[in-house]
Amino acid sequence: MAPRFTYDGGAVDPGEIANIRFTVSETYLGDPVRIPVTIINGERDGPTLCLTAAAHGDELNGIEIVREVAHEWDHSALRGTLICLPVLNVPGFIAQQRYLPIYDRDLNRSFPGDGSSTSAKRIAARVFRNFIEPCDIGLDFHTSTRGRSNMLHVRGDMEDPSVARVANAFASNVIIASEGPSGSLRREASEAGTSTITIELGEAHRFQRPLIDSALEGVLSVMAEFGLLETETVKWPGWRTIIDGSDEKTWLRADAGGLVEMHHDRGSLVEAGDRVCTITNPFKTDVTVVEAPFTGLLIGVPENPLVYPGNPLCHLVALDGPTLRAFRQSQSQPVDRV
Ligand SMILES: [Zn+2]
Repeated sequence: MAPRFTYDGGAVDPGEIANIRFTVSETYLGDPVRIPVTIINGERDGPTLCLTAAAHGDELNGIEIVREVAHEWDHSALRGTLICLPVLNVPGFIAQQRYLPIYDRDLNRSFPGDGSSTSAKRIAARVFRNFIEPCDIGLDFHTSTRGRSNMLHVRGDMEDPSVARVANAFASNVIIASEGPSGSLRREASEAGTSTITIELGEAHRFQRPLIDSALEGVLSVMAEFGLLETETVKWPGWRTIIDGSDEKTWLRADAGGLVEMHHDRGSLVEAGDRVCTITNPFKTDVTVVEAPFTGLLIGVPENPLVYPGNPLCHLVALDGPTLRAFRQSQSQPVDRV
């Protein structure tokens, strides 16, 4: 028999599902600021998995992922507990901005929080103590910042074997190995014993269905790996590259102000010397060509075409020989048309 899941103000018994609005702060009017939480406690014992989204208030793809897991999936065979937090940063979500509106604080640099410190750290502490720290595994969904778009990829501390197990199980093609900045949910949660990865997908202010569907497959694969769903199997993405500090990767930056025209899509391979994009002035008389310094994968691209000199254009990562071959093979296989 599974144990009860308890939080400040309530408990959820095995076999029960609870939808709650959990108070994390107060507005200027003294009204509660509450975040939506769904707790699904399986009848049978197993690990506790936490799904979080919108720590940055305008990053929407993860919200739909967490909502679908919580409210559209059949949980009758669940072993363990799912904690679903679709909107962590409610004030930022309401304002449709990345940061908490109070002094533009970054909630994702405020963990594990502190109940007697800034408003951001108080919010973080309420979330962390009640719903993150009690979990075994964490999946934190993000998108690129406004005006940019990311290929679906995972970030996590691959030197921590339990975090690496989660990252590998998510079955994404690209894993960026890094423990993450101090105060970020994935780093602080992992250090507190909740092995947590970040999943980056797409752009802010959008629901991007193909990316959401891929991420849902990743969630199923993680649940299979850790025995939360015995009927599922762990997936292999076909090819995978793990990018660590020693690998070649760069942000291509604009050396001219102007309007950007991309010549390759997010997730495509560019060869060394390929024209990745061009920057032009309003008269199209002055063209700055941006070339790939090495052969690699475009994991981040601009959606907003306007740049100042120095602005980041594309996030390019090199692939090693075997990965390149596997990537090319995956691209040449026939795709099922739906
Ligand atoms: Zn984010």
